[in-house]
Amino acid sequence: MPRPIQATIHSQALRHNLQAARNRVPDARAWAVVKANAYGHGIERAFDGLRGADGFALLDLDEAQRLRALGWRGPILLLEGVFELRDLEICSRLDLWHAVHKEAQIDMLAAHKTNVPQRVFLKMNSGMNRLGFRPDHFRAAWTRLNALPQVDEISLMTHFSDADGAVGVAAQVAAFEAACADLPGERCISNSAATLRHPHCANDWVRIGIALYGSAPDHPEHPASHWGLQPTMSLRAQVIAVQDLLPGDTVGYGSSFVAHKPMRIGVVACGYADGYPRTCPTGTPVLVDGARSHTVGRVSMDMLAVDLTGLPHASLGSEVTLWGAASSGEVLCIDEVAAHAQTLGYELMCALAQRVPVVAD
Ligand SMILES: *Cc1c(COP(=O)(O)O)cnc(C)c1O
Repeated sequence: MPRPIQATIHSQALRHNLQAARNRVPDARAWAVVKANAYGHGIERAFDGLRGADGFALLDLDEAQRLRALGWRGPILLLEGVFELRDLEICSRLDLWHAVHKEAQIDMLAAHKTNVPQRVFLKMNSGMNRLGFRPDHFRAAWTRLNALPQVDEISLMTHFSDADGAVGVAAQVAAFEAACADLPGERCISNSAATLRHPHCANDWVRIGIALYGSAPDHPEHPASHWGLQPTMSLRAQVIAVQDLLPGDTVGYGSSFVAHKPMRIGVVACGYADGYPRTCPTGTPVLVDGARSHTVGRVSMDMLAVDLTGLPHASLGSEVTLWGAASSGEVLCIDEVAAHAQTLGYELMCALAQRVPVVAD
């Protein structure tokens, strides 16, 4: 028997979440963002649930190639554009659209030998200061691109730094709109947080990532259930040992947890080498056979401990859901676990370890 741990990817939930996001912005076309191997879900496994998107957005040529191999003939957008001249040949071959965020990428386009002009998304740095042309250089970049025979339609994009919080998007929207006021082309500015929280900002295209995967971009202000999102990845393992503790007994490395009363704990076949964060402290929620409990002591490489004291029916072989849905349907949102680890659902799903077997249901 393989080690009893498994991740399950829920296609129906991916389909549901895509529709939930679309319902916020019914007039926009939706990019399903599938970078980082579909946020750790696996492009091939996520594809069926997301094929109702208008296009797929990602970073790696290899992932674009895999989408084409799955039979996807619609738009694919490279969110960071190309990294070297040779990449443009692959864009031509696979018919990829690509972001243009710096002069060096315009230079590459000018040097690219092709008879088929390419669709590009010109990116503005409207305040995030990561990628893009500053508003006062945007028009010049557009003019330069527009003069190239290698370039077909030019769309306009930017990215928000604060769509998930109190600062919001108004200043960046204003900067973007002022700088491209009379430029033609489709607009694409909203990520998941903007799509959910600021749906009036959506224009021709939205770029939906984390919401597809059932995580709220603005947890804990809003839980995923507030946005009608369902978990798309469930990480489940089993209890492989049970220990009865007396007062004064300790659990795990560093003896950081001390029992102050008689307790029963379950040792679970999941550790940080599976992608469960070592930073989760005692008290991080889990579901044991669908019932809420919590971790006890430090997470080790291959195991962690959970409290079974109030769960008399729990025993060897009990199912422990680390995040997502239990087999019986109860949900432990990945955002709640991430908050205990002082990180985001994004990081947990992307960090699911290679050694964990994954199935799709
Ligand atoms: C990752 C990414 C997105 C998706 O962001 P979410 O917060 O996951 O919705 C959108 N746009 C760009 C440019 C990205 O890199």
